[in-house]
Amino acid sequence: MTAAPARSRLHIIHVDLDAFFAAVEQRDHPELRGKPVIVGGDPHSRGVVSTCSYEARKFGVHSAMPLRTALQLCPQGIFVPVDGRKYQRVSRDVMAVLKRFTPTVEQVSIDEAFLDVAGSEALFGDAREIGRRIKVEVVEVTGLTVSVGVATTKLVAKVASDLRKPDGLVIVEPGEEAAFLAPLEIRRLWGIGPKTAERLHGLGIRTVGELAALPISALTRELGDHGGTLHDRALGVDADPVTGGGDPAKSVSHETTFAVDVSDPAEIDRTLLALTEGVTARLRSAGIRAGTVAVKVRDSQFRTVTRQRTLSEPSDLTEQIWRVAVELARPEIRGKKIRLLGVSATQLGAPEQISMFEVADQKQRRVVEATDAVRRKFGDRAVTRASLLDRPLPAPFERDPNSAVEGRVGLPKLDDD
Ligand SMILES: [Mg+2]
Repeated sequence: MTAAPARSRLHIIHVDLDAFFAAVEQRDHPELRGKPVIVGGDPHSRGVVSTCSYEARKFGVHSAMPLRTALQLCPQGIFVPVDGRKYQRVSRDVMAVLKRFTPTVEQVSIDEAFLDVAGSEALFGDAREIGRRIKVEVVEVTGLTVSVGVATTKLVAKVASDLRKPDGLVIVEPGEEAAFLAPLEIRRLWGIGPKTAERLHGLGIRTVGELAALPISALTRELGDHGGTLHDRALGVDADPVTGGGDPAKSVSHETTFAVDVSDPAEIDRTLLALTEGVTARLRSAGIRAGTVAVKVRDSQFRTVTRQRTLSEPSDLTEQIWRVAVELARPEIRGKKIRLLGVSATQLGAPEQISMFEVADQKQRRVVEATDAVRRKFGDRAVTRASLLDRPLPAPFERDPNSAVEGRVGLPKLDDD
Protein backbone atom coordinates (compact mmCIF):
# COMPACT_ATOMS: atom_id res chain seq x y z
CA MET A 1 0.00 0.00 0.00
CA THR A 2 1.31 3.46 -0.89
CA ALA A 3 0.99 6.57 1.19
CA ALA A 4 -1.75 9.06 0.29
CA PRO A 5 -0.46 12.04 -1.70
CA ALA A 6 0.42 15.03 0.44
CA ARG A 7 -2.44 17.16 -0.86
CA SER A 8 -5.02 14.65 0.34
CA ARG A 9 -3.82 14.95 3.92
CA LEU A 10 -6.37 15.86 6.55
CA HIS A 11 -5.65 19.55 7.06
CA ILE A 12 -8.78 21.66 6.53
CA ILE A 13 -11.18 22.53 9.32
CA HIS A 14 -14.52 24.27 8.96
CA VAL A 15 -15.93 25.88 12.09
CA ASP A 16 -19.53 27.08 12.30
CA LEU A 17 -21.21 28.57 15.36
CA ASP A 18 -24.51 26.95 16.26
CA ALA A 19 -27.58 29.21 15.85
CA PHE A 20 -25.17 32.04 16.49
CA PHE A 21 -27.27 35.14 17.24
CA ALA A 22 -29.87 33.18 19.18
CA ALA A 23 -27.13 31.38 21.13
CA VAL A 24 -25.58 34.71 22.11
CA GLU A 25 -28.94 35.95 23.38
CA GLN A 26 -29.51 32.74 25.34
CA ARG A 27 -26.02 33.01 26.80
CA ASP A 28 -26.58 36.61 27.92
CA HIS A 29 -30.17 36.09 29.11
CA PRO A 30 -30.43 32.83 31.06
CA GLU A 31 -34.23 33.13 31.12
CA LEU A 32 -34.17 32.52 27.34
CA ARG A 33 -32.38 29.19 27.58
CA GLY A 34 -34.39 26.21 26.43
CA LYS A 35 -36.96 28.58 24.86
CA PRO A 36 -37.86 29.28 21.23
CA VAL A 37 -35.86 32.48 20.69
CA ILE A 38 -36.33 34.31 17.39
CA VAL A 39 -33.81 37.06 16.59
CA GLY A 40 -35.11 39.65 14.15
CA GLY A 41 -37.18 42.17 16.05
CA ASP A 42 -40.85 43.03 16.37
CA PRO A 43 -42.93 40.13 14.97
CA HIS A 44 -45.52 42.61 13.70
CA SER A 45 -42.92 44.45 11.62
CA ARG A 46 -42.07 43.71 8.01
CA GLY A 47 -38.65 42.25 8.88
CA VAL A 48 -37.36 38.72 8.55
CA VAL A 49 -35.93 36.18 10.98
CA SER A 50 -32.19 36.65 11.30
CA THR A 51 -31.50 33.54 13.36
CA CYS A 52 -33.60 31.40 15.67
CA SER A 53 -32.81 28.94 18.42
CA TYR A 54 -33.07 25.20 17.87
CA GLU A 55 -36.17 25.23 20.07
CA ALA A 56 -37.84 27.58 17.56
CA ARG A 57 -36.73 25.48 14.58
CA LYS A 58 -38.90 22.65 15.88
CA PHE A 59 -41.89 24.83 14.98
CA GLY A 60 -40.65 25.25 11.42
CA VAL A 61 -39.17 28.70 11.96
CA HIS A 62 -36.00 29.41 9.96
CA SER A 63 -33.72 32.24 8.89
CA ALA A 64 -34.98 34.70 6.25
CA MET A 65 -38.62 33.84 7.02
CA PRO A 66 -40.91 36.86 7.51
CA LEU A 67 -41.27 37.57 11.24
CA ARG A 68 -45.06 37.53 10.87
CA THR A 69 -44.90 33.98 9.51
CA ALA A 70 -42.63 33.00 12.38
CA LEU A 71 -45.20 34.39 14.81
CA GLN A 72 -47.95 32.32 13.21
CA LEU A 73 -45.89 29.14 13.37
CA CYS A 74 -44.59 29.79 16.87
CA PRO A 75 -46.90 32.12 18.84
CA GLN A 76 -45.03 31.37 22.06
CA GLY A 77 -41.74 32.45 20.43
CA ILE A 78 -39.65 35.06 22.20
CA PHE A 79 -38.82 37.73 19.65
CA VAL A 80 -35.68 39.75 20.32
CA PRO A 81 -34.05 42.55 18.32
CA VAL A 82 -30.84 42.07 16.36
CA ASP A 83 -27.79 43.36 18.23
CA GLY A 84 -25.33 43.38 15.34
CA ARG A 85 -22.61 45.15 17.27
CA LYS A 86 -22.62 42.55 20.01
CA TYR A 87 -22.51 39.68 17.53
CA GLN A 88 -19.57 41.26 15.73
CA ARG A 89 -17.73 41.49 19.04
CA VAL A 90 -18.37 37.84 19.88
CA SER A 91 -17.40 36.85 16.34
CA ARG A 92 -14.04 38.57 16.77
CA ASP A 93 -13.48 36.62 19.99
CA VAL A 94 -14.21 33.35 18.20
CA MET A 95 -11.89 34.21 15.29
CA ALA A 96 -9.16 35.07 17.79
CA VAL A 97 -9.47 31.57 19.26
CA LEU A 98 -9.17 30.06 15.78
CA LYS A 99 -6.03 32.09 15.08
CA ARG A 100 -4.33 30.46 18.07
CA PHE A 101 -4.06 27.34 15.91
CA THR A 102 -2.97 28.74 12.54
CA PRO A 103 -2.57 32.12 10.85
CA THR A 104 -4.46 30.72 7.85
CA VAL A 105 -8.00 31.47 8.91
CA GLU A 106 -10.50 32.41 6.20
CA GLN A 107 -13.58 33.95 7.73
CA VAL A 108 -16.49 33.45 5.34
CA SER A 109 -19.24 35.00 7.41
CA ILE A 110 -19.83 36.36 10.88
CA ASP A 111 -20.08 32.86 12.35
CA GLU A 112 -18.08 30.67 10.04
CA ALA A 113 -14.45 30.11 9.04
CA PHE A 114 -12.06 27.70 7.36
CA LEU A 115 -8.64 26.90 8.80
CA ASP A 116 -5.67 25.28 7.07
CA VAL A 117 -3.71 23.58 9.83
CA ALA A 118 -1.12 21.86 7.62
CA GLY A 119 1.69 23.71 9.39
CA SER A 120 0.31 23.45 12.91
CA GLU A 121 0.62 19.77 13.76
CA ALA A 122 3.98 19.99 15.51
CA LEU A 123 2.55 22.51 17.94
CA PHE A 124 -1.01 21.35 18.45
CA GLY A 125 -1.38 17.78 17.18
CA ASP A 126 -3.06 16.64 13.99
CA ALA A 127 -6.17 18.15 12.43
CA ARG A 128 -8.49 15.82 14.36
CA GLU A 129 -6.94 16.94 17.63
CA ILE A 130 -7.06 20.60 16.62
CA GLY A 131 -10.75 20.22 15.75
CA ARG A 132 -11.43 18.90 19.26
CA ARG A 133 -9.39 21.63 20.90
CA ILE A 134 -11.16 24.37 18.97
CA LYS A 135 -14.50 23.18 20.30
CA VAL A 136 -13.25 23.21 23.89
CA GLU A 137 -11.51 26.58 23.63
CA VAL A 138 -14.41 28.38 21.93
CA VAL A 139 -16.70 27.29 24.75
CA GLU A 140 -14.14 28.38 27.35
CA VAL A 141 -13.72 31.83 25.81
CA THR A 142 -17.24 32.63 24.61
CA GLY A 143 -19.61 30.13 26.23
CA LEU A 144 -20.86 29.18 22.76
CA THR A 145 -20.79 25.87 20.93
CA VAL A 146 -19.47 25.36 17.43
CA SER A 147 -19.82 22.54 14.95
CA VAL A 148 -16.60 21.43 13.34
CA GLY A 149 -15.80 19.51 10.16
CA VAL A 150 -12.31 18.14 9.48
CA ALA A 151 -11.41 16.95 5.97
CA THR A 152 -8.98 17.13 3.07
CA THR A 153 -10.93 19.85 1.21
CA LYS A 154 -13.00 22.91 2.05
CA LEU A 155 -16.06 21.45 0.39
CA VAL A 156 -16.04 18.26 2.44
CA ALA A 157 -15.13 20.06 5.69
CA LYS A 158 -18.07 22.41 5.20
CA VAL A 159 -20.54 19.61 4.55
CA ALA A 160 -19.12 17.73 7.54
CA SER A 161 -19.54 20.62 9.98
CA ASP A 162 -23.17 20.95 8.98
CA LEU A 163 -24.03 17.30 9.45
CA ARG A 164 -24.30 16.93 13.23
CA LYS A 165 -25.34 20.36 14.40
CA PRO A 166 -25.35 21.54 17.12
CA ASP A 167 -22.02 20.91 18.88
CA GLY A 168 -20.92 18.44 16.19
CA LEU A 169 -17.50 17.12 15.27
CA VAL A 170 -17.32 15.19 12.00
CA ILE A 171 -14.00 13.94 10.67
CA VAL A 172 -13.86 12.65 7.09
CA GLU A 173 -10.72 10.57 6.65
CA PRO A 174 -8.63 10.92 3.45
CA GLY A 175 -9.99 8.65 0.74
CA GLU A 176 -13.44 8.54 2.36
CA GLU A 177 -14.73 11.77 0.76
CA ALA A 178 -16.86 10.28 -2.01
CA ALA A 179 -18.32 7.60 0.26
CA PHE A 180 -19.06 10.22 2.91
CA LEU A 181 -20.92 12.44 0.47
CA ALA A 182 -22.69 9.67 -1.47
CA PRO A 183 -25.80 9.20 0.70
CA LEU A 184 -26.41 12.95 1.17
CA GLU A 185 -29.00 15.03 -0.66
CA ILE A 186 -27.53 16.90 -3.64
CA ARG A 187 -28.56 20.22 -2.09
CA ARG A 188 -25.75 19.79 0.43
CA LEU A 189 -23.14 20.49 -2.27
CA TRP A 190 -22.00 24.02 -3.11
CA GLY A 191 -23.44 25.31 -6.34
CA ILE A 192 -26.67 23.33 -6.22
CA GLY A 193 -29.50 25.76 -5.61
CA PRO A 194 -33.20 25.04 -6.00
CA LYS A 195 -33.15 25.35 -9.81
CA THR A 196 -30.19 23.06 -10.37
CA ALA A 197 -31.62 20.60 -7.87
CA GLU A 198 -34.90 20.61 -9.77
CA ARG A 199 -33.16 19.81 -13.04
CA LEU A 200 -31.14 17.04 -11.44
CA HIS A 201 -34.27 15.62 -9.82
CA GLY A 202 -35.71 15.58 -13.35
CA LEU A 203 -32.85 13.25 -14.27
CA GLY A 204 -33.70 11.03 -11.32
CA ILE A 205 -30.74 12.30 -9.29
CA ARG A 206 -31.41 12.79 -5.58
CA THR A 207 -28.19 11.89 -3.79
CA VAL A 208 -24.60 13.00 -4.24
CA GLY A 209 -23.66 9.39 -5.01
CA GLU A 210 -26.17 9.29 -7.86
CA LEU A 211 -24.75 12.56 -9.14
CA ALA A 212 -21.20 11.17 -9.03
CA ALA A 213 -22.31 8.08 -10.98
CA LEU A 214 -23.80 10.13 -13.82
CA PRO A 215 -21.51 10.45 -16.87
CA ILE A 216 -19.95 13.92 -17.13
CA SER A 217 -21.27 14.18 -20.69
CA ALA A 218 -24.86 13.86 -19.44
CA LEU A 219 -24.22 16.48 -16.76
CA THR A 220 -22.63 19.01 -19.09
CA ARG A 221 -25.44 18.47 -21.60
CA GLU A 222 -27.93 19.42 -18.91
CA LEU A 223 -25.98 22.11 -17.04
CA GLY A 224 -23.12 23.27 -19.29
CA ASP A 225 -19.64 23.73 -17.80
CA HIS A 226 -21.17 23.81 -14.36
CA GLY A 227 -21.93 20.09 -14.83
CA GLY A 228 -18.24 19.18 -14.83
CA THR A 229 -17.65 21.16 -11.65
CA LEU A 230 -20.57 19.46 -9.96
CA HIS A 231 -19.21 16.06 -10.92
CA ASP A 232 -15.91 16.92 -9.20
CA ARG A 233 -17.72 18.19 -6.14
CA ALA A 234 -19.82 15.04 -5.94
CA LEU A 235 -16.56 13.14 -5.51
CA GLY A 236 -15.35 15.60 -2.87
CA VAL A 237 -12.80 17.12 -5.23
CA ASP A 238 -12.24 20.81 -4.54
CA ALA A 239 -8.89 22.49 -5.02
CA ASP A 240 -9.89 25.79 -3.44
CA PRO A 241 -7.25 26.82 -0.90
CA VAL A 242 -7.93 28.40 2.47
CA THR A 243 -6.88 32.02 2.23
CA GLY A 244 -6.60 34.74 4.81
CA GLY A 245 -9.69 36.98 4.90
CA GLY A 246 -10.00 39.62 2.21
CA ASP A 247 -7.12 38.19 0.17
CA PRO A 248 -6.80 40.55 -2.81
CA ALA A 249 -5.22 37.90 -5.08
CA LYS A 250 -8.58 36.58 -6.16
CA SER A 251 -10.88 37.60 -8.92
CA VAL A 252 -13.79 36.59 -11.06
CA SER A 253 -13.32 37.51 -14.69
CA HIS A 254 -15.00 37.03 -18.03
CA GLU A 255 -13.47 38.00 -21.35
CA THR A 256 -14.24 37.60 -25.01
CA THR A 257 -12.38 37.90 -28.29
CA PHE A 258 -14.38 39.33 -31.17
CA ALA A 259 -14.67 37.37 -34.40
CA VAL A 260 -13.99 40.65 -36.21
CA ASP A 261 -12.30 43.62 -34.51
CA VAL A 262 -14.86 46.15 -33.29
CA SER A 263 -14.89 49.95 -33.02
CA ASP A 264 -18.61 50.66 -32.55
CA PRO A 265 -19.07 52.10 -29.01
CA ALA A 266 -22.59 50.67 -28.73
CA GLU A 267 -21.32 47.19 -29.43
CA ILE A 268 -18.51 47.69 -26.91
CA ASP A 269 -21.05 48.74 -24.26
CA ARG A 270 -23.26 45.74 -24.99
CA THR A 271 -20.33 43.37 -24.81
CA LEU A 272 -19.16 44.86 -21.52
CA LEU A 273 -22.66 44.37 -20.19
CA ALA A 274 -22.74 40.71 -21.22
CA LEU A 275 -19.34 40.14 -19.60
CA THR A 276 -20.42 41.97 -16.45
CA GLU A 277 -23.55 39.86 -16.20
CA GLY A 278 -21.41 36.74 -16.27
CA VAL A 279 -19.16 38.10 -13.54
CA THR A 280 -21.92 39.32 -11.24
CA ALA A 281 -23.94 36.13 -11.58
CA ARG A 282 -20.89 34.24 -10.34
CA LEU A 283 -20.38 36.69 -7.47
CA ARG A 284 -23.99 36.29 -6.41
CA SER A 285 -23.97 32.52 -6.64
CA ALA A 286 -20.87 32.52 -4.43
CA GLY A 287 -22.49 34.99 -2.01
CA ILE A 288 -19.65 37.50 -2.33
CA ARG A 289 -19.15 41.06 -3.55
CA ALA A 290 -16.43 42.87 -5.40
CA GLY A 291 -14.58 45.87 -4.02
CA THR A 292 -12.78 46.61 -7.28
CA VAL A 293 -13.73 46.38 -10.94
CA ALA A 294 -11.21 46.05 -13.77
CA VAL A 295 -11.45 46.02 -17.54
CA LYS A 296 -9.00 44.60 -20.03
CA VAL A 297 -8.85 46.01 -23.55
CA ARG A 298 -6.73 44.57 -26.37
CA ASP A 299 -6.63 46.37 -29.67
CA SER A 300 -6.04 45.10 -33.20
CA GLN A 301 -2.28 45.69 -32.68
CA PHE A 302 -2.33 43.32 -29.70
CA ARG A 303 -1.66 46.15 -27.25
CA THR A 304 -3.35 45.29 -23.97
CA VAL A 305 -4.27 47.72 -21.23
CA THR A 306 -5.91 47.04 -17.89
CA ARG A 307 -7.73 49.73 -15.93
CA GLN A 308 -9.33 49.33 -12.56
CA ARG A 309 -11.26 51.26 -9.99
CA THR A 310 -12.29 50.71 -6.38
CA LEU A 311 -16.02 50.95 -5.80
CA SER A 312 -17.34 53.30 -3.14
CA GLU A 313 -18.96 50.21 -1.65
CA PRO A 314 -18.55 46.50 -2.55
CA SER A 315 -21.17 45.28 -5.00
CA ASP A 316 -22.46 42.22 -6.81
CA LEU A 317 -24.99 44.14 -8.91
CA THR A 318 -24.76 44.14 -12.70
CA GLU A 319 -25.76 47.72 -13.28
CA GLN A 320 -23.29 49.24 -10.81
CA ILE A 321 -20.37 47.19 -12.04
CA TRP A 322 -21.18 47.57 -15.72
CA ARG A 323 -21.30 51.36 -15.45
CA VAL A 324 -17.84 51.42 -13.95
CA ALA A 325 -16.58 49.02 -16.63
CA VAL A 326 -17.91 51.30 -19.38
CA GLU A 327 -16.25 54.34 -17.85
CA LEU A 328 -12.95 52.55 -17.53
CA ALA A 329 -13.04 51.13 -21.05
CA ARG A 330 -14.20 54.16 -23.05
CA PRO A 331 -10.96 56.18 -22.96
CA GLU A 332 -9.02 53.09 -24.07
CA ILE A 333 -11.31 52.40 -26.99
CA ARG A 334 -11.39 55.75 -28.74
CA GLY A 335 -10.22 55.56 -32.32
CA LYS A 336 -9.13 51.97 -32.07
CA LYS A 337 -10.30 48.64 -33.36
CA ILE A 338 -10.78 46.31 -30.43
CA ARG A 339 -9.92 42.66 -30.49
CA LEU A 340 -10.60 41.55 -26.92
CA LEU A 341 -12.54 42.83 -23.91
CA GLY A 342 -12.55 41.52 -20.37
CA VAL A 343 -14.28 42.47 -17.12
CA SER A 344 -13.04 41.29 -13.77
CA ALA A 345 -14.07 41.74 -10.17
CA THR A 346 -11.41 41.70 -7.45
CA GLN A 347 -11.07 42.49 -3.74
CA LEU A 348 -13.73 39.89 -3.15
CA GLY A 349 -15.32 39.26 0.19
CA ALA A 350 -18.44 38.23 2.00
CA PRO A 351 -20.86 41.13 2.43
CA GLU A 352 -20.36 43.11 5.60
CA GLN A 353 -22.52 41.13 7.94
CA ILE A 354 -24.21 44.16 9.37
CA SER A 355 -25.81 44.72 5.95
CA MET A 356 -27.71 41.48 6.45
CA PHE A 357 -29.93 43.55 8.70
CA GLU A 358 -30.49 46.35 6.27
CA VAL A 359 -33.56 46.36 4.12
CA ALA A 360 -32.70 49.31 1.87
CA ASP A 361 -31.48 47.28 -1.10
CA GLN A 362 -33.58 44.20 -0.52
CA LYS A 363 -36.04 45.12 -3.23
CA GLN A 364 -33.30 45.51 -5.81
CA ARG A 365 -31.76 42.26 -4.58
CA ARG A 366 -35.01 40.35 -5.05
CA VAL A 367 -35.19 41.60 -8.63
CA VAL A 368 -31.61 40.52 -9.20
CA GLU A 369 -32.21 37.07 -7.73
CA ALA A 370 -35.28 36.60 -9.88
CA THR A 371 -33.14 37.57 -12.87
CA ASP A 372 -30.53 35.00 -11.90
CA ALA A 373 -33.26 32.36 -11.82
CA VAL A 374 -34.41 33.35 -15.31
CA ARG A 375 -30.83 33.22 -16.53
CA ARG A 376 -30.34 29.73 -15.14
CA LYS A 377 -33.47 28.61 -16.87
CA PHE A 378 -33.19 30.32 -20.25
CA GLY A 379 -29.51 31.21 -20.54
CA ASP A 380 -27.34 34.30 -20.20
CA ARG A 381 -28.78 36.34 -23.02
CA ALA A 382 -32.37 36.33 -21.95
CA VAL A 383 -32.46 39.11 -19.43
CA THR A 384 -32.58 42.81 -18.75
CA ARG A 385 -29.90 43.94 -21.12
CA ALA A 386 -32.03 46.30 -23.17
CA SER A 387 -33.36 48.18 -20.17
CA LEU A 388 -29.87 48.75 -18.77
CA LEU A 389 -28.51 49.98 -22.09
CA ASP A 390 -31.10 52.76 -22.18
CA ARG A 391 -30.01 54.40 -18.95
CA PRO A 392 -27.49 57.22 -18.47
CA LEU A 393 -23.97 56.51 -17.29
CA PRO A 394 -22.79 56.84 -13.71
CA ALA A 395 -21.09 59.40 -11.54
CA PRO A 396 -17.34 58.89 -11.12
CA PHE A 397 -15.83 56.73 -8.39
CA GLU A 398 -12.40 56.90 -6.78
CA ARG A 399 -9.55 55.57 -8.82
CA ASP A 400 -7.29 52.78 -7.58
CA PRO A 401 -3.74 52.75 -8.99
CA ASN A 402 -3.11 49.03 -8.42
CA SER A 403 -3.28 46.67 -11.34
CA ALA A 404 -5.73 43.80 -11.56
CA VAL A 405 -4.89 40.31 -10.42
CA GLU A 406 -6.25 37.01 -11.59
CA GLY A 407 -7.32 34.11 -9.45
CA ARG A 408 -10.32 31.97 -8.82
CA VAL A 409 -13.38 32.07 -6.71
CA GLY A 410 -14.61 29.26 -4.54
CA LEU A 411 -16.33 30.72 -1.55
CA PRO A 412 -19.48 29.02 -0.41
CA LYS A 413 -22.71 30.85 0.03
CA LEU A 414 -23.42 32.10 3.51
CA ASP A 415 -24.86 29.66 5.94
CA ASP A 416 -27.73 30.68 8.13
CA ASP A 417 -27.07 28.51 11.14
MG1 LIG B 1 -23.62 29.04 11.96
